[in-house]
Amino acid sequence: MHNIHSFPIAGFNSIEPEVRDNIKAMVGKLLSTDDVNRPPIADSIVDIIDEHCAFDDKNPLFCEFSGLIIDHLLSYFLSVKCSHESVLYHFLGLLNHSPITKESPYYKDMISNLQQVMDVNPDIITLFDKLQLVYILTENQDFDNAKHLLGELEPQVQEHQDQLWVLYNLGKARILRHDKCLKQLAKMRLLMIIQCYEVDSIESAVNFILRWILAINWNRHTIIKKALLMRVYEGCGERKTLNSAIAIYEMFSLEDRLVPPSEKMSYQKKLIKYPASILNVQQLQVLYFFAGNYNSGVQSHFKESIKNYQYSNYFLHKCWERLLSLSKFMRTLLEPLEYINAMNYLDNRIHELSNQVSMQNNAYVESLQADYNKIEELYEKVGELSLTDSLTGLRNRRYLENNLFQMVVLAARHKVPVCFSMIDIDFFKLTNDTYGHVAGDYVLKELARLISEEFRKSDIIVRYGGEEFLVILFDSELERSCSIMEELRQKIAQHSFIYRGHVIPVTVSIGISCDLTQDPHQSDLSKYINHADKALYEAKNSGRNKLAVYNPKHKQAK
Ligand code: GH3
Ligand code: MG
Ligand code: MG
Repeated sequence: MHNIHSFPIAGFNSIEPEVRDNIKAMVGKLLSTDDVNRPPIADSIVDIIDEHCAFDDKNPLFCEFSGLIIDHLLSYFLSVKCSHESVLYHFLGLLNHSPITKESPYYKDMISNLQQVMDVNPDIITLFDKLQLVYILTENQDFDNAKHLLGELEPQVQEHQDQLWVLYNLGKARILRHDKCLKQLAKMRLLMIIQCYEVDSIESAVNFILRWILAINWNRHTIIKKALLMRVYEGCGERKTLNSAIAIYEMFSLEDRLVPPSEKMSYQKKLIKYPASILNVQQLQVLYFFAGNYNSGVQSHFKESIKNYQYSNYFLHKCWERLLSLSKFMRTLLEPLEYINAMNYLDNRIHELSNQVSMQNNAYVESLQADYNKIEELYEKVGELSLTDSLTGLRNRRYLENNLFQMVVLAARHKVPVCFSMIDIDFFKLTNDTYGHVAGDYVLKELARLISEEFRKSDIIVRYGGEEFLVILFDSELERSCSIMEELRQKIAQHSFIYRGHVIPVTVSIGISCDLTQDPHQSDLSKYINHADKALYEAKNSGRNKLAVYNPKHKQAK
């Protein structure tokens, strides 16, 4: 008898220990017996389940029994090292891309696969096509057509034609499941798994076990499903095979509660490194769409997200092509009435796919938009920085150049006055010499802060030179501007500038001008500033810590 290493999966606890042991023994027996004795043993395994619970997909205990048997089968197959030729396994991989017609890139491959077991003549091709059709019809839930066709085909399929026989049984299994003939189905699965192992390889046996895992309605027992899938994946080792791809893809597809998005993302990354032919276009579309959504949720990954959506779009397009070839394939093989019936089922898939298209478009546009917003934000930030003086945080001369003319034009249009006011620190060189340059910087920053407190949003405050500040007061009469600036001058003179325990005396001189024309030109701007500068010169000359107003007569006198 084969030695079965049991696997402690939490979740089989509802089955009594003796019953569990009994099942284990029976599965062992099934694996070690010959062809003739196998069916009765399969029968007794099914009977054991039948004794303890209803054969019902919705029965949790039934899930546990199925899981337990699968667990024992996996224990055996994953521990056996040797492997036969894998013709069937390769065939099952190709089937993932059905319909395989003359136009399919997998057609040649399929023919040479069939040739390894049988003489491929036109009759065989026709039979293969019809079996493929049943397989596709059951996938589309079109069981009426499928059952009818399968009945016709039954006498034609011979057991030694491995691939055809397997394809026939795959379709039949889905029909049995749909008809709730779960007892017959369980027995059929058991026998098929072992037969596939004997005529082909461990891999194809495991592939059938995987199909069993995926067909079970696990309900609240998806944790068992995940454990079994994980076993298959780990059992496959490092090799990137069809079975490990299915196992990972199915783990990826489990609900978030069992497999959080970050874990799904790691599966996605693994899967896209598999050879392209292992996954089908729909699976690839789902994988990339997930990655697009995942990345768009991460603030800085929009670029990655957009790239993934683009891949996903490509596979979405491939899915359409597949549907198209599916309908063409059905049209050539079905009677008109059958075809109309089949199209009703295909409609559902067309509907699903078009939903997917619009969902994906929305996600794609959102991601692009978020990326665009982020770029715009950065652009604004950079722009802001390039218009700001780094020491004081005030606007710089570039900002002035960009904005002053607009302000002056606006003022002229609305006939409101604008005043230019130049502020210069008195004897600042001396401050630097006495207290050091760093202390000088502190004074500049502190002064900038004091100035900023005084003005409105509509005014412009610029660090115009090293220790010179230009304030442009919008909609402010000369008189009002003078009183504001005088207040500022006094405030600065009274403020305590203290740096490292030293009290630094700071005063400023201020020059004001207010002489706008009705129709200003860009070239007038430097003139206005110049006038304020001239007034400043007056203030300095009259003893500093003073405020002076530009007087046009002075200019004329010169
Ligand atoms: P006045 O009253 O005539 O304006 O005398 P002043 O010493 O302030 O005039 P002057 O223009 O000769 O000197 C300005 C000084 O400002 C010279 C320079 O070292 C200093 N300065 C300019 N930019 C900075 C700066 O960013 N940090 C510091 N600490 N000093 C600066
Ligand atoms: Mg100066
Ligand atoms: Mg100065």
